[in-house]
Amino acid sequence: HGGGHAVAPLLYFSDVRFTNDSILDYLRKRYNDEPTLIQRQVIPLALAGYDCIGLAETGSGKTLAYVLPIVHRIYELRNKCLPVDQHGPLGLVIVPTRELAQQIEVVVRALTRDLKLISLIGGHQVEEQGFRMRTGAELVIGTPGRLRDFVERHLLVFNQCQFLVLDEADRMVDMNYEEDLVFLLDQFECAETIGSSDTITGTNGKRPTILMFSATMPPACEKIAKQYTRRTYTSTIRVGTIGSAVDTVQQRLFMLNSEHEKAQRIIIDLEKISPPVIVFVNQKQTVDYLTDRLSKLMPKLKLASIHGGKTQEQRERAINDLRMERADVLIATDVAGRGLDVPNVSLVINYDMPAKIEDYVHRVGRTGRAGSDGTAITYLVPATDANVFYDLRQCLMRSTRSKVPDELNNHEASQTKPGTVKQTRQERVTAFGV
Ligand code: ADP
Ligand code: MG
Repeated sequence: HGGGHAVAPLLYFSDVRFTNDSILDYLRKRYNDEPTLIQRQVIPLALAGYDCIGLAETGSGKTLAYVLPIVHRIYELRNKCLPVDQHGPLGLVIVPTRELAQQIEVVVRALTRDLKLISLIGGHQVEEQGFRMRTGAELVIGTPGRLRDFVERHLLVFNQCQFLVLDEADRMVDMNYEEDLVFLLDQFECAETIGSSDTITGTNGKRPTILMFSATMPPACEKIAKQYTRRTYTSTIRVGTIGSAVDTVQQRLFMLNSEHEKAQRIIIDLEKISPPVIVFVNQKQTVDYLTDRLSKLMPKLKLASIHGGKTQEQRERAINDLRMERADVLIATDVAGRGLDVPNVSLVINYDMPAKIEDYVHRVGRTGRAGSDGTAITYLVPATDANVFYDLRQCLMRSTRSKVPDELNNHEASQTKPGTVKQTRQERVTAFGV
């Protein structure tokens, strides 16, 4: 794994010879023909058949980095490929949440309406999706469980899939989708034995080009990446601060003493906001509690809420309300923590600090996207959150815009990573050279 591949970066979208002019027109109008850094590197590598592991901060344009090569290839092969109704799609994108699948669908549709695309996600009728699959899809986007279901029912085959994308790969491992993912990956001949035969992907055969993306890549996920991508023909591309919050966001922390203090503090923090704003909590019940409380105490504020216990229809409505400015504030669990791209979110509040620093990084990344500025406010209660203090302090120290507050800096739990040997005070003093 590593760089050094002889593929020139893409300077302008127009250098990809799109056979469909309207795509290029759109990219010129919307993005001035200029790819972002991750797009510059991934697009030409993917089109040349290299597997890519794209690690780039939140809001850096990872979606188009894989959507464009797939769309380009589909148009190239349109008249040469086998019928998609029997031999399956040319591209497969696997994502952790239904809302993310829908968002990617919108990105593809903005580029071209003339592409057979189907989302296979939970919460919608299997029968209806199955019916639509009968006419075939050139591109399938889905969540791991539902995709597996379709493969097991023989409604989905991958005889000619050119691109396999795992977006937010580490989140899928986190959500216990690992088994479904491995099941899906094993549908392709890309498991270790064949993977290590180490050839460049052809345009036929069962071995797709694999593209994996995230802004964080913890070890469990890296294992899958190593197992399924090829040794020589894989590029790992890193852009920006991986595993840390994006630097366009000013991160502010408040050390509080109790849940009760949080409930009071949020009233102050929501007083003078410019919508849209997202408030993250850790539990479904807290979403309901907070929505209820805020709607009573701040009746002027337009609220929407989302968590995994709601119906798909409610979930979709909540996100759309925020997008369409029918809601000022979205109160959410981590179902909205990843990938969600709502333009101009000015503020993220972590009412609860998540247990993992990766989730913090992604939540904070709902603001400060594509170079814009943002603020993230996080409430910390030492009694419940001390386990992440070390990682959080490291994360803040890497940010040029944020200041580590003294309470965190000096807290005992911030000094050593949980699970590592506790340093004695004397060692610590020596290490800091004081
Ligand atoms: P990520 O997946 O890296 O978090 P997204 O793919 O969701 O980021 O893109 C974030 C935002 O950046 C989107 O609103 C998208 O429209 C915008 N964007 C994508 N590509 C470009 C580009 N080449 N130039 C400017 N903005 C872009
Ligand atoms: Mg994304």
